[in-house]
Amino acid sequence: MQEGIILDLGPFEVMQARFSGAAVQTHPDTLLLPGLINAHIHLELSHLGFLARRQQRPATFTGWIEEMLRERERHGATGSQVTAAAREVLARQHRDGVIALADIGNTDTCLEIQPGFPGVVQSYLELLGLSRAAAERSLAVLAGQDDSRMCTAHAPYSTHRQLIVALKERARRLGHRFPIHVAEPAVEEELVCHGRGEIADFLRRRGFWDGSFQPAGIDNAGSVQYLDQLGVLDSDTLCVHCVHVREEAIQIMARQQVRICLCPGSNRFLGVGKAPVADFLAAGLLPALGTDSLTSNPEVSLWREMHILRQDHPAISDRNIVAMATLGGARALGLEQDYGTLEPGRRAAVLAIAAGEVHDGDQVYPFLTDGRQKQITWM
Ligand SMILES: [Zn+2]
Repeated sequence: MQEGIILDLGPFEVMQARFSGAAVQTHPDTLLLPGLINAHIHLELSHLGFLARRQQRPATFTGWIEEMLRERERHGATGSQVTAAAREVLARQHRDGVIALADIGNTDTCLEIQPGFPGVVQSYLELLGLSRAAAERSLAVLAGQDDSRMCTAHAPYSTHRQLIVALKERARRLGHRFPIHVAEPAVEEELVCHGRGEIADFLRRRGFWDGSFQPAGIDNAGSVQYLDQLGVLDSDTLCVHCVHVREEAIQIMARQQVRICLCPGSNRFLGVGKAPVADFLAAGLLPALGTDSLTSNPEVSLWREMHILRQDHPAISDRNIVAMATLGGARALGLEQDYGTLEPGRRAAVLAIAAGEVHDGDQVYPFLTDGRQKQITWM
């Protein structure tokens, strides 16, 4: 490598002959892996980590949201406690082997912690508002943003269609990615297809329901079909979670070449179900992995996400799972020119992982996904 860029890879003798004057570092009993990509996290919720460390799981999805909002109000959404917790999580991500993250926030508070991170933090300002009045307030916030600030929508169940479209159009114009939570809880479909159910009741209770949400012409492909009708699905849209999507939705996703980010640890904690991972792979869509926030996941570790995915989907190969945490993430965030694989021309963000117990090639991927603590050094 030179100036942080990989020049070539190959057997030691071949590399030594080609780069005869180069300094040599040896790493015996070590696996080299590209830096991991965490394609979905909310750093600004890190100070509320106690929510997912409890034994008791939330009874309903909206119950969890309600509690999270209440605790956020109590503990504050900005300020030194928020940034201190976020800073600690971000530093831990790097120690744990993460080189790039997509961080979603509702405020600017975590922007100040990015400069210390040795990799890439793609930070998105997430806007929402399902009623017309709330959407208009968010549109005004959007209008005040500098073009360099990446902005995105929360979810189909929380964001007015006009706001979703405005956010996507802006992202398209500026060449930004567009991450959005899609089909995380089963109850989202009831709202999107029929305008009723647990989420509608929750929004009504909180005074966010003005009846302006009118699902039209959605049959059996739920949120994905809805977003497709809004014209916001393309290869720069990152659909996060995608738990409750069936064949028709996956066909749309494959046709539009959308990016997918799975969050198996968060899905397990919230009890929302398991994403149809094998169907995504069969449709030619390699998902990325994300931890989501500490409010819905007791740990934000990609090693743990890989392990949970393996437990939940024994038929998926360990090799594919590792590809999701590396190449899938790099593609999802549009960083594949720099990260995701070890190839000439990529950045030398290389993890050296102690692997004394790995004795042949077949053991490599099962070792990486076994969920046990890894001894990691950045090269
Ligand atoms: Zn999220």
